[in-house]
Amino acid sequence: MPYFISTKIFKQQAKILVRHWPFAGLKNSHIRNILSQLYGYKDNHDYLKQLAEYDSGLNIAPLHALSETMVGLHYKEWVIKMAKLGAINHIQAKTLLHKLWPAYLSAQNPASDKLYSAKIRFHGACNDFLDRKSLNTTIEYLFNDPPSIKDCIEAIGVPHPEVGAISINNSWVTFRNLLTDGDSVEVFPNPCPQVSPDMALPFKPEGEIKFLLDVHLGGLARYLRMAGFDCMHQQEDNGDQWLAETSASDNRILLTRDIGLLKRAVVDQARWVRNILTESQFCEIVLHYDLSPHFQALTRCIKCNGHIAAIEKHAVKEYVPQGVYKQQKDFKICNNCQQIYWKGSHYDKMQDILRSSKTRL
Ligand SMILES: [Zn+2]
Repeated sequence: MPYFISTKIFKQQAKILVRHWPFAGLKNSHIRNILSQLYGYKDNHDYLKQLAEYDSGLNIAPLHALSETMVGLHYKEWVIKMAKLGAINHIQAKTLLHKLWPAYLSAQNPASDKLYSAKIRFHGACNDFLDRKSLNTTIEYLFNDPPSIKDCIEAIGVPHPEVGAISINNSWVTFRNLLTDGDSVEVFPNPCPQVSPDMALPFKPEGEIKFLLDVHLGGLARYLRMAGFDCMHQQEDNGDQWLAETSASDNRILLTRDIGLLKRAVVDQARWVRNILTESQFCEIVLHYDLSPHFQALTRCIKCNGHIAAIEKHAVKEYVPQGVYKQQKDFKICNNCQQIYWKGSHYDKMQDILRSSKTRL
């Protein structure tokens, strides 16, 4: 049943809408139709007809009276309706509704209030990004226009590459899924063994595991190269955009201590390195990506990431200390920077670190 709006108030409200409509060019007739439909009439013609019948006493079915309570009750429904009728977003519709009913809405529905809410729970390592009061609890997320679940998760603080799977109302979804009012969301860390492979979000590239490390992780890059992994690391800071784009184009797992970098849309496979000390960082990455079966010590140059290969002993005579030349039989050389390697004390230390990283797992 439609609501009673006097023609005087109707005209005033139509003027308000024309004045405050988010974009120009909307015809007055369209505005009047939107208002009529908002209050339950088929269109403006229907409104005028029913009001004339009402005024003359012909209307058998009475119109609803509008009160502060009724406007408050219909608030959410009208925001959605006005947004749909006027092809505007929910925030714009809400602002307009507050202009129409300033006295009725200001107190009980402040314009700053969000219309919808969803309940979100983060599991496992996703909690590393939350503040203390949000740890392992259900968070209420408030919103107006439905965000993608990816935007919502990142707004709370968890970068998308750290997410392994998402379920909404007990169904697995992708990042593009839009949040709707009343949704119950579960967010699992990366990797997520509970989810079927086709719904798992990116974890690591197919084939060879390659890394790209930010400028602050030079120590970790050397450790990973020591274990034989391909690690791109630049001494100079090339900026976040370069890191994000290179990681995507070269199919490298991006390792960083910068959470903001992980939220860049182009970044796909990445991890926020939790630990501060290099040796602990190395163990963390070995454990997370299950790297120990792939260790190949003395295959990659620690300095420049080039490949190293065996070289005849006599060829290095001039380039290594005399004692080393006498004691060692086998030498290797980086085919990029010509650094020479042998199984000396640094090799023993390297083996110790690799061994201890395995035993810590
Ligand atoms: Zn080298």
